[in-house]
This record gives sequence, C-alpha cells and structure tokens, in this order.
Amino acid sequence: MRVVLLGAPGSGKGTQAKILAKQYGMMLISIGDLLRAAVADASILGKQAKPYMESGQMVPDEVVLGLLREYLHVEKPESGFILTGFPRHIAQGEELDTILNDLSQPLHGVMHIDVGVDALIQRLTGRQTCRSCGQMYNLYTAPSKLFDRCDQCGGDLRQRTDDNEETIGNRLRVFEGITTPLFDYYDKQSKLRTIQGVGEINDIAAAIEKELKTLPSEESLQAELAELRKNDITFDDLERMVLESVQSALGKVNKEVIEPADKALKKAEKAVLKEAKSIKKKVTKAAKKEAKVLKKEAKSIKKKVTKVAKKEAKVLKKEAKAITKKVTKVAKKEAKAIKKTVKKAVKDIKKKVTKATAKKKPVAKKAATKKKVAKKKAVTKKKTTKKK
Ligand code: AMP
Repeated sequence: MRVVLLGAPGSGKGTQAKILAKQYGMMLISIGDLLRAAVADASILGKQAKPYMESGQMVPDEVVLGLLREYLHVEKPESGFILTGFPRHIAQGEELDTILNDLSQPLHGVMHIDVGVDALIQRLTGRQTCRSCGQMYNLYTAPSKLFDRCDQCGGDLRQRTDDNEETIGNRLRVFEGITTPLFDYYDKQSKLRTIQGVGEINDIAAAIEKELKTLPSEESLQAELAELRKNDITFDDLERMVLESVQSALGKVNKEVIEPADKALKKAEKAVLKEAKSIKKKVTKAAKKEAKVLKKEAKSIKKKVTKVAKKEAKVLKKEAKAITKKVTKVAKKEAKAIKKTVKKAVKDIKKKVTKATAKKKPVAKKAATKKKVAKKKAVTKKKTTKKK
C-alpha cells in the first residue's frame, strides 16, 4: 500500500508512520529525515536545503523533488510505502501523482492526523529524540524516566534545532497557509481520511489502520490508471491540436483583424492620395499665379534697368568723345613739335655732311692728277720701246 501521512508539525505523523511501517512491512519515507540526512552529509541538495530548514521555511521544490526521485529510484519500494512530510502543497501533490503514476504505483490514500494548535505547540517545544535509537519523548506529555537519557538504550536525548518557538510558529503558519488546501485536493480524488491525533498513540494507530481498510484496492487503482493512460494525449496529438488551434486562431485574426485593417488602410490611402492631389492642384495654381507676378515684376525691373543703362551709356559715350578730342589735340601738337625737331636735326646733319665733303675734295683731285701723269709716262715708255 502507498500512503501519505499528512499533519501539522508535531501532529505525531512521524510516530504513527513508524508504527504503520512496522505493522504492514512498508518502507517509511520521511522527507524531513531525508533532508536532515542530506544536510548532515553536506551533499549538494543538503547544502541548498540547510538555510531554509534552519529558519523553518519550505525548502525549494526542485531540491525536495530531487531527493524524493533519487530515493524512489534507488530504493524501489515495491511493497508500498508510508510517506511523511510530502507533499506540503498542491504543486507537490501534483508532482507526486505524476511521479507515482509514471512508476505505475499510484497513491492508495492520504491519512490526515488532525491536532489542535495548542497541543501542537506543547508537543513541539517539549519534543526530544534519542540520538542512538531514535526513540521519541516529550518533556510535558511523555518524558523519559532518565530525564536527559533514553529509557530504552541510555542514549543522549536531543531537541531538534528547528523545535524553538520562533521556528515552530513559522512552520505552523506555513502548514495552515499552504498545506491545508491539499485536503481538498485529495478529497476530490476520494483518497482523504481524517483521524483525530489526540489521545493514546496506539489508539490513534488503530484509528488509522481502520481508515486504511477503506482505501481503494490495487486493482481498482491500476484500472483507473489504465483508463487515464487511454485518454493520455500523445505528443503528436498535442502537436496537431496546438497546430490546429494556432491555425484557427490565425484564421480568426486574419478575418477579424487583418482583413478589416487592410480595408481601412486602403481606404485611408485613397483619401490621403485624393487630399494630396487636391493640395498639389491648389499649390500649382498658387505657384503659377506667383510666377506670373514675379515675371511681370522682372519685366518691369528689366525695363527700368535698361533705361538707366542706356542713359548711363549715353553719358559715357559723350565723355569718351570729349576725351578723344582732347587726346587728338594734344597728340597733334606733340606731332607738330616732333616734326619740327626732326626737320631741324635733318637740316643740321645735311649741313655737316656738305662741309665734310668739301674738305676731302683737293686730296682726291691731287690723286687723280698723279694717276693721270703716271698713265702718260707709261704710254710714252711703251712708244719708245716700240721704236727701238
Ligand atoms: P519536518 O521534519 O517534516 O518537520 O521538516 C523539517 C523541515 O524540512 C521543514 O521545516 C522544512 O524546512 C523542510 N521540509 C520538510 N518537508 C518539506 C517539503 N515537502 N517541502 C519543503 N520543505 C520541506
């Protein structure tokens, strides 16, 4: 049989779990013990769990689930188990169902041990455990006869570090706030049984055993599981369903959003184009008008400028004529003076040349006479020679 014992801290679920495990030969799985062992071993999960446990807070799900999966994988409790300290909230309850269904070992039932808050506080603050054999005592309700030693083995008794008033308050609040909704969760599966947890330990155990007999049989659980698996959706089914729903959603979005938006866009586009055309027309008209005015203005400016320019040109022409006249007069006067100077210079040169020529003449005459005499002498000589 696979059973969960649910109860607030101090409800006695640990004690009852031990009795039941012995009675039915079932494995006892206490998540609190598994966590404490992991902390003592300083394993990776233990190191992560330590600060939460010390302050009475819930250890993160991935750590607790990691420990439970590891335990179930190694121990394989085929003859059933009693689980305490897990689940503590709905999400853990769902995870547990998944893990156990995957192992084809669904839960038979959940025993809720109900104890009032005052009794819980008294039990927790007085709780003592033997370090050697694990025997439990309570300073107020079931003290050891040897005070701080175990009656059975003489071992040292110790109080849990998280059994102090502040941490206890925290743990009880956590239970009230997040664990109690699990009663509803299991009640809906018809697996919840509630037992009053106050009174003699053996009487409580007997009440639990009585309730265990009302839980569903293994056969009915397996049949239920088989039915559940029949309705299991395969990954391909899921993929097809998702695809279909996405396609249908897309079709709907297309019809209801995209198509109307497209239509509105086209209409708006048309209106904008029309507006732009009309603006262009108006602007062109205004521009043409403006151009006409400008052209007219330019023409008038050109006319004015031409008139001024012509007037200016006339004045300049007159001025140029006057300057030319003056320059011509000066030039003529200058030319006359130059001509006079040149004429005089020529006259002087001529005079000088004539004078020079007159001085050279007697010498030339003398030379010519000399030449004549020589010629005559030569002729006479020639004639004499011939007569001889
Ligand atoms: P317990 O021995 O069941 O009272 O648990 C001792 C401490 O272990 C708790 O105060 C939590 O810090 C932690 N713990 C035990 N069980 C769980 C759980 N199912 N989920 C998270 N934390 C847990």
